[in-house]
Amino acid sequence: MISTPLDIAENGQFHIQTRQAVLAARHSSKLVGLVVIDFDGSEPAFPGSATQSNDAREGAFALVANSLRDSDALCRITGTETAVLLSSLGNSKDARLVVEKILQKIEQPLSLEGHTVNLKPQCGVALFPHHATSAVTLLECAYSALNAARRNKERYVLFSKEFGSSRRPPLRLSELRQAIVEDQLFLLYQPKIDLRNNRIIGLEVLTRWRHPDYGLIMPDEFIPLAERTGLIVPLTLWVLKHAILQCRSWLDRGINLNTAVNLSMWNLETPELPEQIAGLLGIANVPASQLELEITESAIMDDPQRAMRTLKAIRELGVRFTIDDFGTGYSSLSHLKKLPVSSIKIDKSFTQNMECDNDSAVIVRAIIDLGHNLGLKVVAEGVETIETKDLLTKFECDEAQGYYFARPVTAADITRLMGKSNKSSETHAKAEQDPPLLALENARFIPIGPKPHI
Ligand code: C2E
Ligand code: CA
Ligand code: CA
Repeated sequence: MISTPLDIAENGQFHIQTRQAVLAARHSSKLVGLVVIDFDGSEPAFPGSATQSNDAREGAFALVANSLRDSDALCRITGTETAVLLSSLGNSKDARLVVEKILQKIEQPLSLEGHTVNLKPQCGVALFPHHATSAVTLLECAYSALNAARRNKERYVLFSKEFGSSRRPPLRLSELRQAIVEDQLFLLYQPKIDLRNNRIIGLEVLTRWRHPDYGLIMPDEFIPLAERTGLIVPLTLWVLKHAILQCRSWLDRGINLNTAVNLSMWNLETPELPEQIAGLLGIANVPASQLELEITESAIMDDPQRAMRTLKAIRELGVRFTIDDFGTGYSSLSHLKKLPVSSIKIDKSFTQNMECDNDSAVIVRAIIDLGHNLGLKVVAEGVETIETKDLLTKFECDEAQGYYFARPVTAADITRLMGKSNKSSETHAKAEQDPPLLALENARFIPIGPKPHI
């Protein structure tokens, strides 16, 4: 993947519209254009406050929306990046004209409460079928073009095949270190659903990196670097801090959702971790029962005795553990029995195949029974279809998570979904600054969680 944008598939409705436009274009002589706009572009620093910068981007978003035809579509990707789908273009000149029109509108000085803001947006443009073969590769090409615009300090760049081979250089340790210090990381939250009543029961925190030059980078690319270099320790603390602050903000609004943070092997080798978690929970006044930690079997098995000491100390605080990616590691059942964990999460490689592959269905059923016999709750991840959900319900799986219910979304989306979307309080405004994605518009679960206990 080039420069790894937020997966287009994480923006449900927009993704469907892009696919439909691509399908229609296959049978016509029309082109589909995808434009990724970075509103902050070449000048990320605003003269005003964070609220003013958000207002400016909102204003620009509205201007773009107003300049589109009915058949076009618009989707926020991150706080500053927006994708525009131009569903039926005659030729590449048309694409350039539309982009010029959009840029001219949003480059006009914006007046905000007596303050004038000049946005310096940048765009990347790609066309189907000239540059890409599918909706997903079309977005990758548009991002690649945006990266070229950033590198060359241009207002917009149309994708060129030669960008395809110039993938971005490997991520550097110093860049990731800077990302943690400068808050370039941000968190998305994916709902976990109680299969007995279809209610949202908790969230998994998934980290993203908004790189100043390359745009959005997914965790599969930077977590391994963090793990190789030990940076995973400060990175996890950053994630824990922001997730716990977000929990506080939700509790203040009467929203009570367990929040699960992923830990790596290195974290279990850090003797200070229990104390650090206790400190963060204490400062935010969040009950330990609100926090869950996900840890893979292999991370525990690397040094089971040391892992056990850390796990026990954290468990004593009241924080619960889930074994992640269950079924993929070399699970020693005798160890599993001794671990202070309260649930296991079946790896998505099993759930994703269970409808059509009887072996996977048998494994899933066996894991559910095993978990229950050990007194553990069983969660299934990677649930993408109603058939998988129905089968899991039949097998009496307790909880599920996956694109079928909801994709990972921003904290603001969760707040909105839970129907308590008050204005952000001053203290927690930072945690909520990302604007909502469109992905929860058709969420397939009931947005009612357990009653708050604080
Ligand atoms: P994971 O813990 O197994 O997280 C689940 C991954 O599956 C997420 O990918 C999520 O977006 C994706 N997913 C959720 N539902 C579905 C579905 O229905 N179908 C499919 N195909 N995928 C689904 P993501 O966000 O790219 O995260 C990848 C991995 O990166 C995570 O896997 C986790 O191991 C790691 N990671 C993410 N954030 C952190 C973090 O803050 N700390 C650590 N240590 N690891 C993290
Ligand atoms: Ca996980
Ligand atoms: Ca997993």
